Amino acid sequence: MGAVNLLGLDRHGMEALFVGMGEKPFRATQILPWIHRMGVLDLDAMTNIGKALRARLRAMAHLTPPEILSHSVAADGTHKWVIRLHDGQAIETVYIPDNERATLCVSSQVGCPLKCAFCSTGTQGFNRNLTVEEIIGQLWLVQHTQTAVPSISNVVLMGMGEPLLNFDNVVAAMNLMLDDLAYGLSWRHVTLSTAGVIPALDQLRAVSPVNLAVSLHATDDALRDQLVPINRKYPLDELFAACRRYVTMDTTGGSHRRITFEYVMLEGVNDSPEQARSLVRRLRGLPSKVNLIPFNPFPGSPYRRSSQQNIDRFRTILLDAGIITITRKARGEDIGAACGQLVGQVAKRSGFSPKNRPGARLLGDTDEHSTPNTA
Ligand code: SAH
Repeated sequence: MGAVNLLGLDRHGMEALFVGMGEKPFRATQILPWIHRMGVLDLDAMTNIGKALRARLRAMAHLTPPEILSHSVAADGTHKWVIRLHDGQAIETVYIPDNERATLCVSSQVGCPLKCAFCSTGTQGFNRNLTVEEIIGQLWLVQHTQTAVPSISNVVLMGMGEPLLNFDNVVAAMNLMLDDLAYGLSWRHVTLSTAGVIPALDQLRAVSPVNLAVSLHATDDALRDQLVPINRKYPLDELFAACRRYVTMDTTGGSHRRITFEYVMLEGVNDSPEQARSLVRRLRGLPSKVNLIPFNPFPGSPYRRSSQQNIDRFRTILLDAGIITITRKARGEDIGAACGQLVGQVAKRSGFSPKNRPGARLLGDTDEHSTPNTA
């Protein structure tokens, strides 16, 4: 068994591998559907590739998905898997059923370096970036081994981690999500969520057509510096300028696109009418929609969820200004699968056992849910 994990190669990577073996690049189109459409891991079952070539492949490569450590199902039908990586770390992946949509919320890092004040993932620290096979492996596992879950229609990169800090691996994994030879999802159904890593945002637009969600949470720098510390490096004026560049640079053949802004509702912190009006001003002229996320508490968190009254008042101000605004339902809270509750297992300690922890709630970080943008 060779060193390369074929699960982590997108079409370019697969073509490069074959060219490096002295083969034609079209071999990539023969092998990708076996792996990602049919879920086949045994090279010998791939009969459209000759026996000799299969043997050479086996000598240099293998096909190994990550491993499911635990699986829990919430009362509302949300599923959460804790997935073990080869080095003993663990991450979380969440499936959210919602009418006709089947959304998978995927992690991009073990932990997160951004330390947003209201997010449980940030409190557990950062260990490392996920590899391409670990990112796409989450979709592969759910799609090909979890028979209770229907075919995934939407993917949101809203799990643990900041996807734009793991740029190359995230882009390659998204390439596979979009590739007809692999998962064949529409770009409208794949959403990357970022706290606003500006240089990477500009780069993303040039290489991938996916939907963008921006975790905003505040409309003035003083507050956002506290809630989303990366704002100290990339402040709001620059973030909105980057968002304007993002929507104007169109790589999808002229189709209309807008940015989803996520806004966690924290009682008495960012939920006043003045703050709603300030958000309206910020969004003027920018094709956008807003997802209000009622705060999901976690042990030790200093914040409280805004009252329904404050959420409704905030939403009404945005709606009256003509901004599409959705209040996101908390999903999977009883299994620690809601936004900001994902923790995985970042600790470097080994021998992690989910049985040592009460319930299914692990450390976690991230979040969840319904694809912000797709209809
Ligand atoms: N790092 C990326 C991806 C994480 S997405 C980002 O910041 O966008 C996770 C989403 O859930 C973000 O919008 C995040 O701000 C939100 N979130 C984090 N903690 C939360 C909590 N405790 N309650 C509700 N939403 C939370």
